[in-house]
Amino acid sequence: MAGSEAASLLCICGTDTDAGKTVVTAALLRAAQGRGLGTVAVKPVQTGCSRAADGALIAPDVAVYNQAAPGASSAVLYTFAEACSPHLAAGRAGAYLDAQAVASETRRAASGFELALVEGAGGLLVPLNDTECLADVFAELAVSADAPALLVVGNKLGAVNHALLTLEALRNRGVEPLGFVLVNQQPQAGPESDMEPAIRRDNREIISRQAALPCLAVLPHCPEINSADQAAMAAGWEKLAGLLQPVLDALLAALEKRRAESAAALLDFDRDHLWHPYTSALKPLTTWQAVASRGPHLWLRDRAGHEYRVIDGMSSWWAAIHGYNSPRLLEALRAQAARLPHVMFGGISHAPAVKLGQKLLELAPDGMEYVFLSDSGSVAVEVAIKMALQYQAAAAKASGQPEKSRLLTVRGGYHGDTLGCMSVCDPVNGMHSLFATALPEQFFAPRPDCRWDRPYDPASLEPVRIMFREQAGDIAAVIIEPVVQGAGGMWFYRPEYLAGLRTLCDEHGCLLILDEVATGFGRTGRMFACEWAGISPDIMCVGKGLTGGTMSLAATLASGGVARGISRAGGVLMHGPTFMGNPLACAVALASLELLEETPWRERVEHIEEILAAGLVPCRELPGVADVRVLGAIGVVEMKEEVPVEALQEFFVRERGVWLRPFGRLIYLMPPYSTGDDDLRALCRAVRDAAAWLAETNQDGKWV
Ligand code: PLP
Repeated sequence: MAGSEAASLLCICGTDTDAGKTVVTAALLRAAQGRGLGTVAVKPVQTGCSRAADGALIAPDVAVYNQAAPGASSAVLYTFAEACSPHLAAGRAGAYLDAQAVASETRRAASGFELALVEGAGGLLVPLNDTECLADVFAELAVSADAPALLVVGNKLGAVNHALLTLEALRNRGVEPLGFVLVNQQPQAGPESDMEPAIRRDNREIISRQAALPCLAVLPHCPEINSADQAAMAAGWEKLAGLLQPVLDALLAALEKRRAESAAALLDFDRDHLWHPYTSALKPLTTWQAVASRGPHLWLRDRAGHEYRVIDGMSSWWAAIHGYNSPRLLEALRAQAARLPHVMFGGISHAPAVKLGQKLLELAPDGMEYVFLSDSGSVAVEVAIKMALQYQAAAAKASGQPEKSRLLTVRGGYHGDTLGCMSVCDPVNGMHSLFATALPEQFFAPRPDCRWDRPYDPASLEPVRIMFREQAGDIAAVIIEPVVQGAGGMWFYRPEYLAGLRTLCDEHGCLLILDEVATGFGRTGRMFACEWAGISPDIMCVGKGLTGGTMSLAATLASGGVARGISRAGGVLMHGPTFMGNPLACAVALASLELLEETPWRERVEHIEEILAAGLVPCRELPGVADVRVLGAIGVVEMKEEVPVEALQEFFVRERGVWLRPFGRLIYLMPPYSTGDDDLRALCRAVRDAAAWLAETNQDGKWV
């Protein structure tokens, strides 16, 4: 949690070790000093240090800063004696460098200054540890501050290649380059060939054009800065500082532009013109500007521009199961984007869709044989309903029996917001009264009253049994969320109920549709929640976590029996969205499922369940709390009264550094599986504190 204005940073990175970064940083420090900008030069990692008489390590680059800008501030954070990569040097010194830690030290060194010039170490991809490189430090800095990069290019043969690769690596990590500076190298002895000036000119033009980036300065080789004569040396630095003025101009202009795109301007337009979920256009709830995400964290800004790093307890509505910005998922996205971002699925197929289909069928419960890819959970449910209706229509035609054309579901369910989905959502929560004329009428049984944490009572299925007895001729399918009812009330019920439904459906020639959009991919501690009941559906919907929360994608899976039934006598499934089977979404979904399989997700989810139970169960003692429920990586505190969402979100973000979105009487958690124990405990603490605070402020059913 920060809540403060961050200093502006300029990340100075080079195409290789001796491109001229230190000279550029030092001269920029002088230029910034000349303009009266409160500036510090920060060298996060310095290798190749010499030893002073007292054994202390002396950072050579800091000596250069001091020569260029006497009296200016500088800081060196990690120093090593060996002149080699940070990874190797740190290893030899028995130290370990971690991008996040190096970035947070850098931010600390920068705080209190208007501008920090952060000089890299070696080329951009030099290793920091076994998995991270220096670029990851710059990426970390760019997450939470204005931290564009300046590329320093050694102006010689090979510069184009080095510069373009470095820029690609920066942009891939979300670091915006401001421009580049060419540094002419020390001339070789003897007369210069006429190729040399041509190469230098070419470097400038080609890098600029191909990277669509301005060349902000060309620095000559300047031997004066190494002169023993102080005046000559100062003049040399002054000359370089003068040549680098355009860098400062560009930086200040970029910062000004960002200020103009301030949180206030953005959020004001948002408030006045963008509709958010379930909000009034005229009196919307407060929204926060999300500026970055990483792992289990989000960076949010309020209207005043204050920034908060918060722990996400919502996985962006069940979707970000691995946390945010997983390198594996982003890489899959990038690779696919470069090859085939989208193509129509009518008459065309592609490897990402086929491989995803194979993977889904491999993971799915027994009996699933066909996959229909679509764009969202709601569409997956619409498709499931259509499949069931088409199946029953074809069956009726073949048998000459009357057609079964309605759905049976339970109260407290949620299946999406399109009209077909809404017809099977809870009639009260789903506001059926608003859409009475547009919604098909379905059968509703009571919410399963066999709660998860109590022994099963077969009587709970009796109302459904009675409905089947009375309406079997009309029930085409049962649709239900297995074990966990999500957005309709975060209610967990016994798997035996589900197994009983399966039997009833079989007995009455009715299909079972399981909506695993929220529960799929491990959330309840099983890959799919129906595994708790040991049953397979006829039709199953998945979405949300399918792409690890990176893109919108969903799928409706069907048994061979359903597919053959629909297709008998030339029948075709009547659905075909434009973005069906989008290759980008399929590629990232495949990467997400592979990542899930490779991680010990089941153990993680069990562990999260233990922490959530330990952290939330004490809420039962609080006066305003009606119930606490935990299952897998889902924790729920149900209050006796409806909670004030906006006030609670203010409290969560500003006071507790967490992101939660309560609704109705529910404050609930479903964090990414990768969330660390400390963060999980912080989430639970925040919920406990909120429940206690609500209990204190609730008078006669009103929040005061
Ligand atoms: N089904 C269930 C169980 C859900 O929880 C949701 C969304 O919350 C949906 C369907 C609808 O999914 P989407 O919002 O992607 O349309």
